[in-house]
Amino acid sequence: MAGAFWCVVEDDRQGHPKKVTAELIGEAHRRATDLGGAAVEAVWLTDRAAPEGLDQLAAWGASRICLWEDPALAPYRGETWVPVVADLAQRESPRAIWGAVTSRHRELMARLAARLDAGIAADCVAFSVADGQLVATRPVYAGKLLSKVRWKTGPWVATLRPNVFKAAEAETGKAPAVERQTLAAGTPATRFVERREEAQTGLPELTEAEIVVSGGRGLKGPENFVLLEELAGVIGAAVGASRAAVDAGWKPHRFQIGQTGRTISPKLYIGCGISGAIQHLAGMRTSKVICAVNKDADAPIFKIADFGLVGDLFEVVPLLTEEFRKLKK
Ligand SMILES: Cc1cc2nc3c(=O)[nH]c(=O)nc-3n(C[C@H](O)[C@H](O)[C@H](O)COP(=O)(O)OP(=O)(O)OC[C@H]3O[C@@H](n4cnc5c(N)ncnc54)[C@H](O)[C@@H]3O)c2cc1C
Repeated sequence: MAGAFWCVVEDDRQGHPKKVTAELIGEAHRRATDLGGAAVEAVWLTDRAAPEGLDQLAAWGASRICLWEDPALAPYRGETWVPVVADLAQRESPRAIWGAVTSRHRELMARLAARLDAGIAADCVAFSVADGQLVATRPVYAGKLLSKVRWKTGPWVATLRPNVFKAAEAETGKAPAVERQTLAAGTPATRFVERREEAQTGLPELTEAEIVVSGGRGLKGPENFVLLEELAGVIGAAVGASRAAVDAGWKPHRFQIGQTGRTISPKLYIGCGISGAIQHLAGMRTSKVICAVNKDADAPIFKIADFGLVGDLFEVVPLLTEEFRKLKK
């Protein structure tokens, strides 16, 4: 619908929208209200949309769901996805198009903005409305400063950091208004060759997790990440790593937090054996509560930590795990 807020659905590849989509929809409703009201709609490109996934989007408040459900949409390829959203945007002129700060949405939204000749505010952590225009707040200089930006032309294309915005409350009993769209036939320039599934850890995904336990060079070796995994298992956290740990080959790159890794905003971040280099802080500075375990009382991470534990992580982490285990019992 013209003038609507579009929220591009990020899903679990199994047909269900992820929690960050509820955050997009929740924030879109708040800003649409500030602007005097506008429809909030979901735009979903997927190879499978579960019926309960569609119900979920309606319950979160998407008044319309534009759905492309086609095997050609998986795995994600910018060249396949971008024209689909761009064509609809050119026909309907939405006021805003929002995605999440995830690997595929980061690329999708940047390419989409270029295609629409619009600006993009990437990695947003807040929005406000001034003079009938949307104003986005986003970290700059590795998170040292926050900058406020406006768009010169619409639509307002943006990516929103997970775990920052309040998620829409689910209201049951709303029937999803689904508009099934047909994918235009085309011959993509790239061809899908092979899919390798990552081994399941049983822990939440790093960028979506509400709690993250992260390890650095202080862990001394890959085998010691098991200490963090045990703690993470007890408190329902995801495990992350510093670049030093990743460069040493202790963890794959997808675990890396920081400027050249993932950006996270959990409710609780626990850094163990991490010094707190500016490039690491760039990826976790917006965590709500930051805890650090480091044997060096002068480690820079203590400057931004809400709670600091000066001590040997090999003693402290097992104790924390044990205490949390007792509390949970
Ligand atoms: C362009 C660029 C991009 C970068 N991008 C990233 C990025 O995305 N993410 C990132 O993390 N880094 C990044 N870096 C690297 C960054 O500058 C740091 O080198 C890196 O973060 C250091 O990792 P670390 O804290 O694990 O290691 P170190 O700096 O070596 O710190 C290890 C810490 O462990 C503590 N320690 C040691 N033993 C124990 C123990 N037994 N118990 C408790 N504490 C202990 C030490 O006191 C120390 O503070 C980037 C650098 C550059 C130049």
